[in-house]
Amino acid sequence: MTQGGVSRFWREIPQRYNLIGNQCEVCETLFFPPRESCPTCRRKSVGKMKNKKLSGKGKIITYSIVHVAPEQFEGQAPYPIAIIELDEGPRLTSQIVDCDLDDIKIGMRVEATFRKIQEDGYIGAIYYGYKFKKCEELDSTKEKK
Ligand SMILES: [Zn+2]
Repeated sequence: MTQGGVSRFWREIPQRYNLIGNQCEVCETLFFPPRESCPTCRRKSVGKMKNKKLSGKGKIITYSIVHVAPEQFEGQAPYPIAIIELDEGPRLTSQIVDCDLDDIKIGMRVEATFRKIQEDGYIGAIYYGYKFKKCEELDSTKEKK
């Protein structure tokens, strides 16, 4: 990785940490990660994309357990990767942490947490980003009879 790559990473930290998405002011669609323009409104949306802080809370739409990890994540497998729908609407893919594999359920409430993602032995950099963990608030998947 070049020096430029490292500083770019640090500039992106607030976005990664706070889960900043953006919203098209023309059609009000929310995006995460933020986009430069809205794919629906295209040119009409240029300059009308407004940053929006997301709650970081959402629910698991679907998930799978990764048993064979890419090289840099070796040692972490097996780990769950889930598609999460944020309360505000956008969907994203993230690793689920602090959770027994057996505990993960579709519909489970999760929240973003800031975690170490990867250590780069070569330049000694540690990458941080968001992962999701089980939400401490009321679990909506619990016995609703
Ligand atoms: Zn739009």
